[in-house]
Amino acid sequence: MKEIKTTIYECEYCRKYYKRKHFAVKHEDLCPLNPINNPRCYSCEYLKKVDVNLIAEIEVSGYDYGISYDERERTYSLFKCTKKDVFIKPIISHKKGKDFEPNLISQIEMIVAPLECDVFNDCFKMYDLPNFLKG
Ligand SMILES: [Zn+2]
Repeated sequence: MKEIKTTIYECEYCRKYYKRKHFAVKHEDLCPLNPINNPRCYSCEYLKKVDVNLIAEIEVSGYDYGISYDERERTYSLFKCTKKDVFIKPIISHKKGKDFEPNLISQIEMIVAPLECDVFNDCFKMYDLPNFLKG
């Protein structure tokens, strides 16, 4: 057996280990326990998950194998600040570049979850936190 001494990188927030530094750096930026990824919304009483119907563009295959587009109403389950009346996009999904299609975004007002908020009202319960952080 060969013993190899190597450097291991540990996330400061969740203590996950990485062999490669750039993976650890990337992870820390997106780590759900990193304070920069935890806006006040997550424990605010005004944050609610709501179903909203939006017009989505869908691909339709034709008989001749051509693709065309059609519109359908679809229900999306989104987070909403009921005080400010805007939809809230989780910071992590924003950082990952997971954006709604432009035609969906144009139908609603959506902001990235703010780290500080003037209408924050602490309710001491983390609202569906694991799913929220995943985005
Ligand atoms: Zn971590």
